[in-house]
Amino acid sequence: MSKRQLAMVMDLNKCIGCQTCTVACKTQWTNRNGREYMYWNNVETYPGTGYPKNWMELGGGFDAAGDLQAGVVPNIEADYGVPWDYNHDELQFGEQLKPNVDPTWGPNWDEDEGTGNFPSDNYFFYIPRICNHCTNPGCLSACPRDAIFKRDQDGVVLVDLDRCQGYRYCIAGCPYKKIYFNPKISKSEKCILCFPRVEKGLPPACAQQCVGRIRFVGFLDDEEGQVYKLVHKYKVALPLRSDYGTQPNVYYVPPTEAPPKFDAEGRVIEGSNRVPIEELEKLFGKEVHQAMKTLREEKEKRKKTGESELMDILIAYQHSEMFRLDQD
Ligand code: SF4
Ligand code: SF4
Repeated sequence: MSKRQLAMVMDLNKCIGCQTCTVACKTQWTNRNGREYMYWNNVETYPGTGYPKNWMELGGGFDAAGDLQAGVVPNIEADYGVPWDYNHDELQFGEQLKPNVDPTWGPNWDEDEGTGNFPSDNYFFYIPRICNHCTNPGCLSACPRDAIFKRDQDGVVLVDLDRCQGYRYCIAGCPYKKIYFNPKISKSEKCILCFPRVEKGLPPACAQQCVGRIRFVGFLDDEEGQVYKLVHKYKVALPLRSDYGTQPNVYYVPPTEAPPKFDAEGRVIEGSNRVPIEELEKLFGKEVHQAMKTLREEKEKRKKTGESELMDILIAYQHSEMFRLDQD
């Protein structure tokens, strides 16, 4: 276990699915040298297949007894999608824009599809995903070479590329499928939480560039920090699929702001919510009930009294205040 743990909170009520975070990460870290198909940050539509395809069904993580579960390594073509480019150079000669391969799958292939029937009860929301820099990482436990480690000063999970032999057990062991095989160098690679930026007091690129101001970054033991308050004080930020047993350190404020359903005549069904609570429970556990209650109560309090520390934090008036990265 590391001495301190850096964590991220994402407020799903505010994510607009613009993919700015994805582009910020990709242009910084994964647009070359065998990493083209990787998305260390991606934003998927829920419900949907996600990235890689059906990642929640690919195993890994730990059972209730703490034993590592078997998992599979996704296939680049079928599960991630072969990255493609476009014929930009030919456009000046009158050619139409077209991809240079015949793509059959890729990240966000099912973007914005959602589920239900329009206009009565259809819904979707976005879930941005990065490596969770878990306290009990499945990737680390699965590696027979001890090539994966957690940094003491911030709990960032990294791959020691000198030790990695490209066995890919880590990919099977990660239930979030957030570690990838680089075929060019035969090694595993993953989100590094932009640690070179963090060491300079800057937030990860995905958080810095987030136009929705949904991402808070800070240490979990910093009681004055917004991350601490959202996770521990108000308990409205919850880990994704904590049942996988890896103790993730990325937390989500669940979507409370879904519109109501309509009846057959197109009238609003008062008190209804398009996002089924069972789906939120599947993602965030039973704690989601209390988190939703707290969020709604604080919103009402803010409306009536004009005051709520929690609502002030979530509104995020100042982008710079969303990040507290001072390291000892
Ligand atoms: Fe490892 Fe996956 Fe956890 Fe990241 S999310 S630390 S890759 S187990
Ligand atoms: Fe969502 Fe922010 Fe990413 Fe846009 S940049 S998709 S708002 S997390």
